[in-house]
Amino acid sequence: MDELKSFDEVSLLTVAVDRLPLWHKPALLCIGDAAHAMSPVGGVGINLAIQDAIAAANILAVSLSGKGPLSDQLLAQVQKRREWPTKVIQGIQVIIQKRMISRVLGGTGKIVPPWFLRLFIYFPVLRRLPARLMGLGVRRERVTSPARAIIPVEK
Ligand SMILES: Cc1cc2nc3c(=O)[nH]c(=O)nc-3n(C[C@H](O)[C@H](O)[C@H](O)COP(=O)(O)OP(=O)(O)OC[C@H]3O[C@@H](n4cnc5c(N)ncnc54)[C@H](O)[C@@H]3O)c2cc1C
Repeated sequence: MDELKSFDEVSLLTVAVDRLPLWHKPALLCIGDAAHAMSPVGGVGINLAIQDAIAAANILAVSLSGKGPLSDQLLAQVQKRREWPTKVIQGIQVIIQKRMISRVLGGTGKIVPPWFLRLFIYFPVLRRLPARLMGLGVRRERVTSPARAIIPVEK
């Protein structure tokens, strides 16, 4: 705060949760926030952006290396693969925002966590579930594109 001379030096970072209806046009593919803006809830937007990138690499690598046609159908496959995992995580973000964060910020009384969160107190093993869901996503992506084989691994 000592560095700020006036509030004009502060910029507003608007939080949005939305999705493009169509993620691709001929020779153009939007992934990450360009296709679906993520809210900060859960700190998960970067995970989705990386998962999209892996899916795109797996689907497009052969064509991008000149060994096949880069068709609109291939671009559409990326959206088809990544759209529903995005919808699920964005849905969770919106529920947490409406049910918990808005109440905490707007409320004045004592905050009582919902019943399913109280279960985490009594059954610590359950705490792994939201971490896995948010960390790994609802559809895991693993690199299978040929680039994995040709890029030398540093030792
Ligand atoms: C307030 C806030 C806090 C958040 N906190 C978290 C968090 O803690 N953890 C988390 O996982 N997610 C968080 N998110 C979500 C996360 O920031 C995004 O989901 C994630 O950054 C998306 O990554 P991306 O690579 O798709 O897009 P971006 O990170 O937005 O990257 C796009 C890049 O493209 C550059 N760019 C734009 N136009 C051009 C151009 N014409 N030419 C060249 N470069 C260009 C931009 O400068 C930017 O570097 C937060 C979001 C908000 C709004």
